[in-house]
Amino acid sequence: MFLLKKTDRISRMAILIIEDEKKLVDILKKALKGERYSVDTALDGEEGLEKALKNNYSLIILDLMLPKRDGLAICKELRSRQVHTPIIMLTAKGTVENRVSGLDVGADDYLIKPFGIDELLARIRAVLRRRKTSDPDIRKIGDLIMDKRKHEVTRAGKKLSLTPKEYKLLDMLIIHQGEAVNRKQLIDHAWGPDFKEANNELNVHIRYLRKKVDLPKLKPLIQTIRGVGFVLRD
Ligand code: CA
Repeated sequence: MFLLKKTDRISRMAILIIEDEKKLVDILKKALKGERYSVDTALDGEEGLEKALKNNYSLIILDLMLPKRDGLAICKELRSRQVHTPIIMLTAKGTVENRVSGLDVGADDYLIKPFGIDELLARIRAVLRRRKTSDPDIRKIGDLIMDKRKHEVTRAGKKLSLTPKEYKLLDMLIIHQGEAVNRKQLIDHAWGPDFKEANNELNVHIRYLRKKVDLPKLKPLIQTIRGVGFVLRD
């Protein structure tokens, strides 16, 4: 059995999977081991929380719907206990919890089921890369700073007054800075996957967001990728 104590030296990145679908756990485990990660697993929320508190992982893959304790509660609890291990949340499509964003309770990223393994591996690499240096609550690109703790965004030292939707859109873009974020990802994050008028709404809100972020004399950060979505790039 795999066990990692806080005092152990970590030679390989250790990932904890908290997920109750045994089949998915097996698939993830195999894929992650293939990428040379060490893998530990928990099949319910209580076991998962216990392991996450006790051991020192590089990253946690956390399912939202779990027996005994759900993913949001686990994420909240870990962050409130000052455990800042990066967390990627898995959420099931078409269920209520989908609308509740794990990012609001301190997750670093999330994936909607079903997802491709390659997508998950890419997200893991991106999250680990981002986490190497930075304060998890502060995200920066150029002279734009998002402080999640204060729920505040500044550009060139000036505070921006963003609506909740604009904040969510910017949040998604800044998490994936330098990468194309497609329209669906943005819509899922800001409105939830079942929102019908989202395409038009997205255009409107991105336009407002641009006006606030990319002020006339500043270098534009939000770029459109035709037919795909948007990218935040310095
Ligand atoms: Ca589940």
